[in-house]
Amino acid sequence: MNGLSERFDAVRASIADAAREAGRAPDDLTTVVVTKFQPESLIRELAALGVTDVGENRHQEAQAKARALADLGLTWHFVGQLQSKKARQARAYASVIHSIDRDSLVDALRSEEATVDGFIQVNLTDDPGRGGVAADALLPFAERVLATPGIRLLGLMAVAPLDEPARPAFARVRLLSERLQGVAPEAVAMSMGMSHDYRDAILEGATHLRIGTAITGKRPTGG
Ligand SMILES: *Cc1c(COP(=O)(O)O)cnc(C)c1O
Repeated sequence: MNGLSERFDAVRASIADAAREAGRAPDDLTTVVVTKFQPESLIRELAALGVTDVGENRHQEAQAKARALADLGLTWHFVGQLQSKKARQARAYASVIHSIDRDSLVDALRSEEATVDGFIQVNLTDDPGRGGVAADALLPFAERVLATPGIRLLGLMAVAPLDEPARPAFARVRLLSERLQGVAPEAVAMSMGMSHDYRDAILEGATHLRIGTAITGKRPTGG
């Protein structure tokens, strides 16, 4: 016993509690279990527990896992920074890319043949190194995404800043989402909420939670 199923049940229960508190149906939330650095065996256990959506943040690792675990029929989410030159390969296994944040990446995801679901990542900090588009660049960037065949824009993704409470940061994402819907009425999704802040994210309208360690336990190596 490694406690995985107990942790999974506990997180599911607290997601349901937060959803009810927010007056929302727990079924309206998609939980992406972030499995970066975790072994394939753990992903098999998660699938046996009923997990359908998993997230990875490094292309090579994600590609190898998606290949080795193809029999599980999982939906793979790419949640990390993605190099433009890896974009075409990533879209081959990932159904959803959460981290669209640069013109070069948008252009690399262009396709006339296939469509990938995507989130625009917004940067909630003043540090450009943290990834994501700045709030004041969001609308022109969204126009570029919308004009690009091969990407279906689902909404916005964000990571809470380290140095401020999560809830007001997620409230800013909600406001940005309303702004986005002015140009993209169908892009209503919000990918936000990790192990330590998913309750705040749910209360501010998250539709996609990206939860790692609260479910998987500690990662085997640093990340
Ligand atoms: C690792 C990661 C997560 C999950 O983080 P936990 O704290 O383990 O829940 C979510 N989103 C992104 C972008 C990540 O890189």
